[in-house]
Order: sequence, then C-alpha cells, then structure tokens
Amino acid sequence: MKRQFRDNTGKKETKEKKRSRCPVSNRCGGCTMIDVPYDEQLLAKQAHVQELIGGYGPVDPIIKMKNPDHYRGKVTSVFARDRRQGAVCGIYRRGTHEVIPVKKCLLEDTRADRIIQTVLRMLPNYRIKAYDEETGSGFLRYVQVRAARATRQVMVTLVTTDPVLPRGTAFIKELTERHPEITTVVMNINDKDTTMVLGQREKVLYGPGYIEDVLCGKRFRISSRSFYQVNSLQTEKLYNIALDLAGFSGKERILDAYCGIGTIGIIASDRCREVICAELNPEAVRDAAHNAQMNGASNVQVAESDAGEFMEELAEDGEKMDIVFLDPPRSGASQQFLQSLTKLGPSKVVYVSCEPVTLARDLEYLTQNGYQMKKAVPVDMFPYTEGVETVCLLTHN
Ligand code: SAH
Repeated sequence: MKRQFRDNTGKKETKEKKRSRCPVSNRCGGCTMIDVPYDEQLLAKQAHVQELIGGYGPVDPIIKMKNPDHYRGKVTSVFARDRRQGAVCGIYRRGTHEVIPVKKCLLEDTRADRIIQTVLRMLPNYRIKAYDEETGSGFLRYVQVRAARATRQVMVTLVTTDPVLPRGTAFIKELTERHPEITTVVMNINDKDTTMVLGQREKVLYGPGYIEDVLCGKRFRISSRSFYQVNSLQTEKLYNIALDLAGFSGKERILDAYCGIGTIGIIASDRCREVICAELNPEAVRDAAHNAQMNGASNVQVAESDAGEFMEELAEDGEKMDIVFLDPPRSGASQQFLQSLTKLGPSKVVYVSCEPVTLARDLEYLTQNGYQMKKAVPVDMFPYTEGVETVCLLTHN
C-alpha cells in the first residue's frame, strides 16, 4: 500500500508502507539503521572506513556479530514528566529534550530494560517525582543500568538531585526483591543544570558499589563512572585483534594510553615485560590499579594523567617504549600526544578508534612523521547505528 508521510525534514514523500522493527525508531535518535538489513549496514561501515583511511594502507573486512540484537550492556534512561505531571522514562527525541517513552529496545540488554520499567512503576508509591528540566524541580533524573555478560552482575545507578532517597531502605528492598539479578545499587547526585548524566558525588545503597566482568580471561571491576565498552562480545574480538596485530615477543615495554579500567594493558601483561597505563578519570584509574592487582599482573603500573601530558613527559625523559596502544575518545588523540608519540618513536603503534574521522586525521599526522599503516580492521561494535570501531597497526619506518 502506498501512503503519504512526512520524513524527518518535514517533506512529504511517497513510499511503500513498511513497518519498522521498532515503533519509536523514527523519533528516537538511537538506531538510525534499525531497518537496514545487517549485511547492508556492514557494507556501509566498510565503505565509510575504506573511504576515510584506505589511502594509508590495507583495510580488512569488518568483523561482524553473529547475533546483533540486544548487545548494549549499558542503558541510560531519562526520567521526565508528562503533561499530567506523571513520570515517564525513555530517550530524548532526536535533537531535542523531549522524552520519548521507551519500554524496550532492540539494542539494549533486556535485563536492563525490565529493571528500568520496574523503577518507573515504583515511583508513585514512594512519592518520588521525576525531574522537570524546565523548573529544575523533582528528584529522579536518570536510571543507568550496567549488565555484565560473563558474570551476569548488574549495577543500577539512580541519578538524583538530592542525596536522600525517600524511604530508601524499603525502595531498595523492593527493587532487589523484584530483580534478584541486581548485585549493586549506587546513587549518583547530579543537582547541576547540565547535559552530563552523572554528577561528582556518589553513595552506595546496596552491594559493593561496582560490578565485575570477564574479558579475554581477565576479571575487571567497573565503577559507575568508569568507561567500559558497551558491547563486551565484540570487545573481546577487538582486543584479540589489537594484541595479535602488536605481535609480542615477550620482552616489550608497552604503554596503554586512554586505558579506562586497564583492560588492554592487563590483557597484554602476560605477553610482555612491562605495562604502563595512563588515564585521566580518577575512578577509572582506581579501577585499573585494582584490576591489575586482582589479576596478579605485577608488571602493570597505572598513572593518573592526561595522556598527552604523560606522553610528553615520557618523550622528554627519553623513556623507551616498544609498543604504544592508544584508545582515545571520539575526539581522537591530542596534538601534544601525537607530537610526543613520534618523538618517543615506539617501533609499533596500535590505534583503537571509535571515530574514523578523527582516526583519519591522526593517521595523516603519523604517516607524515615516520609511521606507516600496515593494516586496519574495522569491528562492528554498534550494530543498527552508524558507529564503527577500527583498530590499526602502524610501524616505524
Ligand atoms: N581502552 C579502554 C577505554 C577507552 S575509552 C577500553 O577499551 O575500555 C577512552 C578513555 O579515555 C576513557 O576511559 C576516558 O576517561 C579516557 N580519557 C579521555 N580523555 C583523556 C585524556 N585527555 N587523557 C587520558 N585519558 C583520557
């Protein structure tokens, strides 16, 4: 059947009526490729990476998922009020601050979605008001759930404007009885007018205050404010590729820059002599140091530092590094980092990137300054979205 509809730009178009896999996909900004067949998504990502970095060296076929549904282990739900002042939760409508109610999502861990719906239903009984962005009034702003794949542990973070949860003991008791899979509940206080989800202050309401997961045979503690890859199945593949590309002899001294909770460095620690990890976020640094100890990785040291500053110090001190791993945020590596990296001159650089545009920019600098890209491997960490992860090996000329 043909019908007229307005697309996102407001233009009228005629198209075959076809039901989307998700009833809110045209309003929510999460999964722009939900109705594109998986093989086509992969072709588009491959072409995107090829176009941006193919000029620097060979790009392998993208590493796909066998079953791409429900891969997201971290779910953040925004809490807000409807017209009748009742609570709703879901995701912001693309490009706005209007909350689209979402009960379940094809990308998200199903345990996480169910817990969030329970919290929503519990609110009236405890007289808990959702936050109202217009007036800054109300209590609950977000619920974030992190569900570990290997250990099945689940962390719930309640982001609130005030440190006192109404009838807190009863609330936590009811929530954890309804969901025995929850292993810890943390309250994060965010009373600022900001688009950042998490604030600086935290209180543990139940359990140890963190969860653990297992990746590539190592165990990792993850705190609510530390970064942890959202797709742990693909992360294992990504790390294995990164370590294989590095090709250790056992004698290397390596740097894991932008290390998060120390995953890459700790997994690599069995295969080399010494590992130094560098990370800016103090919670992640604490997790990384704990993780090194928990895994008996006595050859791993963790530094709390801006990666660029740390790299500059290493280069100025004339330190020697054999392999540098870097896994920066979307903005890529800083100029200071790249300049110092080429000064330090490790024989191999393994660049893990979640944004091919900044990867291309940084490859341009590195290939102009003594390095050659030997190989790149795209990994599909974010099915149904346009995101793509890429790992690249560069060697010194
Ligand atoms: N390699 C880790 C983390 C990658 S995410 C993993 O795979 O899990 C990028 C990390 O860089 C985050 O932990 C973030 O806190 C950190 N980061 C962001 N800016 C930084 C900077 N300027 N210096 C050091 N670390 C930084």
